[in-house]
Amino acid sequence: MPCITVKKYFLILSILTALLINSHPAFAFPRHNPVPGGLALIPVNTDSHPKIFFNNHPVATISNENQSYALIGIPLDTKPGKKNIEIKWPDNSTETRNFEVKPKTYASQYLTITDKRKVSPNKKDLERINKEKIRKNKAKKHWSDNDVKANFITPVEGRVSSIFGLRRFFNQQARRPHSGLDIAAIEGTPIKSVEDGTVIEAGDFFFSGNMVYIDHGQGIISMYAHMSRIDVKIGDIIKKGQIIGAVGKTGRVTGPHLHLGIYVNQTLVDPVFLLPEPEIATK
Ligand SMILES: [Zn+2]
Repeated sequence: MPCITVKKYFLILSILTALLINSHPAFAFPRHNPVPGGLALIPVNTDSHPKIFFNNHPVATISNENQSYALIGIPLDTKPGKKNIEIKWPDNSTETRNFEVKPKTYASQYLTITDKRKVSPNKKDLERINKEKIRKNKAKKHWSDNDVKANFITPVEGRVSSIFGLRRFFNQQARRPHSGLDIAAIEGTPIKSVEDGTVIEAGDFFFSGNMVYIDHGQGIISMYAHMSRIDVKIGDIIKKGQIIGAVGKTGRVTGPHLHLGIYVNQTLVDPVFLLPEPEIATK
């Protein structure tokens, strides 16, 4: 048996401990979960910078441990089965790859909204909503060629009060499924940016209340809604963890919470697949 001194023993122990901590970083890497509303990570060699498309939308590429992946956001209304991505190589040749979308069932949620206009908007409200839709569409289609920043942190400490994909009924009327993750916290709780990025949209919206969109590169965009206040403006460069505003109850809500939305190739996906796992457990 090899003989090691106490000093050497502690040196080895500290190296091993450091390795263990590094292998469990405090941030998350997007997780492969090919379901409607989920993500597919498809290994691709990106040395020659191919252009990749899904549903005709450009797709982000991310790297982890010397492997690159196409990161595909799968729309919630996707039927399970084989789906294709298109890879356009620099010599103009194209390649098709496929992946399998697995089925997932989402539950229903019934909510009572006291402000009836937020469920059945009047004519003036509808004009406002339509104008806001144009701004929201522009934000979700935003593309920057920057390297993707997708090692997300949790934006708010709180209780998960509503999960992604629930089929929603407001005052017994069917509305679109829940497109993000709700984290309930006391009004005024600071909201942190999940990653480095640039503010591409910010303002007061009819349904979403005070809202901020942050671009993290190549179509990965985080969106924060119902804020009590906004601390940033369009064009601001943001650091991961920087406070961008506070939890509120503006827009269509039943109480103070952060609604976090994540766009991947113009598709809202379940933020849970990009956030650190232990921190987003439903309590
Ligand atoms: Zn929500």
